[in-house]
Amino acid sequence: MFRISRFISALDSAIHTRAASPVRATNTSAACAAVANMAFATSASSSADASHQQPVPCSTATPTPSAIAPAIRLAQAPVVIWNLIRRCNLHCSHCYSASTDKDFPGELNYEQVCAVMDDLHQFGVRALILSGGEPLLRPDIYELARYAKALGMYIGLSSNGTLIDEQNIDQIADFGFDYVGISLDGLQARHDRIRGQEGAYAASLQGLRLCRDRQLKVGLRFTLTQENAIDLPGLLAVMDKEQIDRFYLSHLNFAGRGLSNRALASHHAVTRLAMEQLFITCMSYQQAGNPKEFTSGNNDADGVFFLHWVRRHYPEHAAKTLALLRQWGGNSSGLGVANIDNRGNVHPDTMWWHYSLGNVLQRPFSEIWSDKQEPLLAGLRQRPRPVQGRCATCFYLDICNGNTRTRAEKSTGNVWAEDPGCYLNDQEIQA
Ligand code: SF4
Repeated sequence: MFRISRFISALDSAIHTRAASPVRATNTSAACAAVANMAFATSASSSADASHQQPVPCSTATPTPSAIAPAIRLAQAPVVIWNLIRRCNLHCSHCYSASTDKDFPGELNYEQVCAVMDDLHQFGVRALILSGGEPLLRPDIYELARYAKALGMYIGLSSNGTLIDEQNIDQIADFGFDYVGISLDGLQARHDRIRGQEGAYAASLQGLRLCRDRQLKVGLRFTLTQENAIDLPGLLAVMDKEQIDRFYLSHLNFAGRGLSNRALASHHAVTRLAMEQLFITCMSYQQAGNPKEFTSGNNDADGVFFLHWVRRHYPEHAAKTLALLRQWGGNSSGLGVANIDNRGNVHPDTMWWHYSLGNVLQRPFSEIWSDKQEPLLAGLRQRPRPVQGRCATCFYLDICNGNTRTRAEKSTGNVWAEDPGCYLNDQEIQA
């Protein structure tokens, strides 16, 4: 996950300590409109029509992991994304969990989830993202949220938003979710088509508004694909108009229906335009004195691309940006991020459902996560990772950390192959 706004904020601070910005924007809407006119028209003509998370609180407890993976000590427990239910009322073309509107057997019951939460808490986990399927379809979702809050956890809710209405918004607000992320994958017609349900866009937007009006922290989540890139400017305008403070762009990863539909992955040129658009929009809000959070996920080459963007527009601040990006360190699957699926299987992140590290009904999460014999975890935690191809020779491997390993594995059969989702050209991965 690449927190664009964190780096933009640092960049803006640095600019103001030196000189006025050459592209300072004073009117956010005007800046957004200008950005909206960027070359997305080109993607339209070629289109065949792919953790929101709060800052992760540092654990005050000191976890005592038994594992010391090669070159990496588990100094901090991960953020855990937990798919509590696989059932979903929608049927999205890029869904990594291939969810649909039916019951899936073998899901953890209330007592089992609470027992796992106890173990997570003892291990030092302080942030849970409750996801699905659609987590609001789980009848005990509020009780589970209450339990986690009582442990002192930060709780995010990742929802499609269509089930948030006047009847349950008070409950959602009262149970103290720290953040609600709602997905919009395009403007109305495209979103409804991608999500497989007419009226889904209107229902999701209504859910977003209800959360916002109850002062819940709410963000808009968007999975960029070749099909919906043309709607990105429009969604950023919706964000502005609806006064939503967060925007998360996920690149398409190759898992679930995202694997079957990988041809939808946005072309590299489209991805570059989208990322530049986010950088400029984020900077515009920052410089207008109205900062908003922008984050991207599932493509850690974003950090390197950002560095090149800074070099082009603010060359005097590139060295500081480079240092900050090295601190960030790129992809953190298997270390800073963990996933538990609806049946209790533990994965390095949500895209690894085809590979289980162990099951929490048979072995505590704390043991599974601390297992130094687990080969995939050991490789993911190695610095540098044992990546191959252009990732192995990339000058910025220490920033990106080899990007997303599932995309590499699903494309080549080799988990350490170069990530085909890298949209940087050969020159951009050299010193
Ligand atoms: S070549 Fe590999 S390591 Fe370098 S930026 Fe691209 S994906 Fe990341």
